[in-house]
Amino acid sequence: MLPYLVMKKPLEIDNVSEVDLRREKEKARTLRRTHWWDKKIQKGICYYCHRKVGREQLTMDHVVPLSRGGKSRKGNIVAACKACNSKKKYLLPVEWEEYLKSLRKKSPER
Ligand SMILES: [Zn+2]
Repeated sequence: MLPYLVMKKPLEIDNVSEVDLRREKEKARTLRRTHWWDKKIQKGICYYCHRKVGREQLTMDHVVPLSRGGKSRKGNIVAACKACNSKKKYLLPVEWEEYLKSLRKKSPER
C-alpha cells in the first residue's frame, strides 16, 4: 500500500517544525550524493509513470512530503520525472492517487 493512502486529510495541518524540515532537507542533500541515489537514477526511469526520461530529468521525490511529516530516508525517497513531481505538488493526495491509477491502466512504455 502506498503511504499516501494512510495519510491524513489534505486540509489537516501537520505539526512539522522548521528545525525538523531543515534537518530532513539536509539529509536529502546528503543522500543525493550517495551511490544509492546514483543507482536509483541510473536507468533514467520515473518511479511513478515508468517513462524513460533520462537521469538528468529525474528529481528526488519524497513519497510522503516533508511538509507532511515524511522523512528523508531511503524508503521514502524515489526518483520522479519533473512532470510527475510537479503534479504531485499541486494535486491533493486523493487526486494524486487518481493520477497514479490512470497511469497503471496504460501499459508502461519502456
Ligand atoms: Zn513520471
